[in-house]
Amino acid sequence: MERETIYEGLVRKGVSRRDFLKFCGTTAAVLGLSSSFVPTIAEAMEKKQKPVVVWLEYQDCAGCSESILRASKPAIGKIVLDVISLEYHETIMAAAGHQAEKSLNDAIKNYKGKYLVVVEGAISSKDGGVYCTIGGKSSDYLLKEVCKDAMAVIAVGNCACFGGVPAAKPNPTGAVGVMDVIKDKPVINLPGCPLNVENFTATVVYFLTFGKLPSVDKLKRPLFAYGKLIHDNCERRGHFDTGEFVKAWGDKGHRQGWCLFEMGCKGPFTNHNCPTIRWNEGVSWPIMAGHPCISCSEPKFWDNNLYASAEKNHFYAKVGLGAMAVSGLISRKDKKE
Ligand code: SF4
Ligand code: SF4
Repeated sequence: MERETIYEGLVRKGVSRRDFLKFCGTTAAVLGLSSSFVPTIAEAMEKKQKPVVVWLEYQDCAGCSESILRASKPAIGKIVLDVISLEYHETIMAAAGHQAEKSLNDAIKNYKGKYLVVVEGAISSKDGGVYCTIGGKSSDYLLKEVCKDAMAVIAVGNCACFGGVPAAKPNPTGAVGVMDVIKDKPVINLPGCPLNVENFTATVVYFLTFGKLPSVDKLKRPLFAYGKLIHDNCERRGHFDTGEFVKAWGDKGHRQGWCLFEMGCKGPFTNHNCPTIRWNEGVSWPIMAGHPCISCSEPKFWDNNLYASAEKNHFYAKVGLGAMAVSGLISRKDKKE
């Protein structure tokens, strides 16, 4: 049976043409494409069938699923029913046990070579993968089995990309990311703790529109979302440049929105588009709310001095990690409150 296109799904749900074009425009903006690409995206959404998605979940907290479920724009209805055709998702599907296993087997058989796999959570690689099993099969075995006939694999969240929190020292389960296991399929990483749903939607729309995954960096992260440092677009950057730093929680600088570098901010060493797309429908993001960036889109963030001291941050800057701009900080005299 022919699956409906994304546009048909939207029309069936009462979405107006105007709102549809707005969605295409917003997605083009997230992808860093000019407005001249909006008609191309709209045409793809009108003609292409919804991609079939199999969503696997291993060692994690389900925070990335939560991130999508709690998003009101695009709402879960839009993500699940209008942008993708979700055939299997262990956390939100009604089926359980043998029924769930059958759903997975049916999906990969019926849509052989035509489905996308989304992976949330780390894969256990130690002792034959015994620390993470579903239906008696290890996460490592299941991942390989499901990805064998997939078009591409999207790893969502730091755990699926780089092992995340389960891989924190001493990493008792031998937790690894998808790209450490799957070598013969296109894999794209959308790290974050959790992932930002806007980046997921944009990646799927890009794949549908252009028939391939977007360009990536050496960590397989799409450049549209991870091509720039947090520090480059941070709204507190002016305070960094003029040497105005928060020295203690609640001090005058903190109340006035000064730079959080001295409080351990990892923005100068972290690639992510949080300052531009923000979170919760663009309402806010951690640094805007007064909290330093903890580098959740980079490998080993949990072991890497999560809340680094000012001294540590100065050390990182000195040895040249992250933004070149930071090196100037070492010789700069901080302004006093
Ligand atoms: S150090 Fe952090 S708070 Fe300061 S400008 Fe850079 S990203 Fe923003
Ligand atoms: S600001 Fe930093 S820690 Fe916060 S969500 Fe963005 S990358 Fe992650």
